[in-house]
Amino acid sequence: DLSRFTKRGEFAWEVAPREAMHVPAIVYADEALMHAMDEKVYTQVTNVAKLPGIVKACYAMPDAHWGYGFPIGGVAAFDPARDGVVSAGGVGFDISCGVRCLHTGLHKEDLEANQKRLVDTLFERIPCGVGRTGPMRLRRKELDAMLSGGAEWAVSCGYGTRVDLERIEERGCMRGARAEEVSAQAKDRQCEQMGTLGSGNHYLEVQHVAKVFDYETGSVFGLSPGDIVVSIHCGSRALGHQIGTDFLKKMLAASAEYGIKLPDRELACAPIESPLGQSYLGAMRAGINCALANRQIITYLTRQVFADVLPKANLTLLYDVSHNTCKEEVHVVDGKRMPLYVHRKGATRALGPGHPDLPAAFHPVGQPVLIGGTMGTASYVLVGTMESAALSFSSACHGAGRAMSRHQAVRHWRGREVLDELATRGILVRSPSMRALAEEAPLAYKDVSAVVDAADRAGLARKVAKLEPVVCIKG
Ligand code: 5GP
Ligand code: MN
Ligand code: MN
Repeated sequence: DLSRFTKRGEFAWEVAPREAMHVPAIVYADEALMHAMDEKVYTQVTNVAKLPGIVKACYAMPDAHWGYGFPIGGVAAFDPARDGVVSAGGVGFDISCGVRCLHTGLHKEDLEANQKRLVDTLFERIPCGVGRTGPMRLRRKELDAMLSGGAEWAVSCGYGTRVDLERIEERGCMRGARAEEVSAQAKDRQCEQMGTLGSGNHYLEVQHVAKVFDYETGSVFGLSPGDIVVSIHCGSRALGHQIGTDFLKKMLAASAEYGIKLPDRELACAPIESPLGQSYLGAMRAGINCALANRQIITYLTRQVFADVLPKANLTLLYDVSHNTCKEEVHVVDGKRMPLYVHRKGATRALGPGHPDLPAAFHPVGQPVLIGGTMGTASYVLVGTMESAALSFSSACHGAGRAMSRHQAVRHWRGREVLDELATRGILVRSPSMRALAEEAPLAYKDVSAVVDAADRAGLARKVAKLEPVVCIKG
């Protein structure tokens, strides 16, 4: 029943206000997505709207689904000057999980004779799945350097070039990281995990550009029909997860002390300006650097594979953007510029044209917005808009979003069947876990094209190119 929502635009729905909300809760979607949306998303966005210091509105993106405390696909900004908070559950457990897209300089035809060798070599050399270790073992001092340096550190160790850094959010290094705020347990769990994909929904996918919607922006992004690209989706591995776990506990314990009435225990948080808030931000930024370094090392491994299998390839970055972060950004609210802490959980930052944080190459058009679909359907590249600043603190969706829980999915499909069916369609998938393939069956996700259309029509970001999978390594 959609009559309980108030339309705030053709693709914007305000959830019926409940008591104690400081701001409205807005969901961006079309009617069909609204009907199919996980009911808990509506509860979760209204709960987030009750947190102290929240500004303007709490948003859910068209791919939103239930998450821990905040929905996945949730965006909320807090004002530190008005007791605004930072929440570990508002960032998510896989801190700075994100997508990096690489050009290869190859065309679809270049792959035909080598597709099987490519998938097998990638699967052999890109560590993935639970428990696989990476190509290095970091001692504590190196690990701390990684936590402060991010992809910049990885490049200084030889895993890429400085040219790569220009095309990474924060230019590859998140400032304000504090390695000393990360627990020993988190560090111990990470020392052998650098350069690993992880499990489940994390992937390395070779894709071809199936369609270009906007040729002008496509040419700035270097995307033409038939081009081969590589997308890498992963995050901060065990380290990020442990930081999330550690701080959730601390925030829950401290909420009462800070006088915060939690609408849901999962929304445990701390004032931005409090010692705990600052400690979390320092640790979370270290987690961001871990993810940026991780994707950089995986890129290095991927380049080695291409050098062996398709030596004429040249892997260069289109962009690397995270979708689980809390960042200090300046936004205009009620005509006033103010520094805010923007939580994006399962939401992609999507800066419009001319934004000073963008690499010069993207100034004329806006930021590439990298959106996963599934291993059996399309993925998309969008571009940030001017309007999104006012609509969603410059944020857009991050994927198709789950339509079904992992548990439900394994009851529906068998991994082997999913694998075989994709192979008949020319998509070669490899995974150490058949169960993961069942959990990740394409039909367990929403229709990515519908999600992306809704984001486009709502003005959050504009469609640039559609990518289709050729080869996928799944965690
Ligand atoms: P999340 O960050 O929420 O874990 O996942 C982001 C998005 O990645 C999901 O919403 C889904 O649409 C997408 N995704 C999951 N698995 C795959 C895959 O194997 N290939 C592609 N292209 N996208 C995927
Ligand atoms: Mn992710
Ligand atoms: Mn992740």
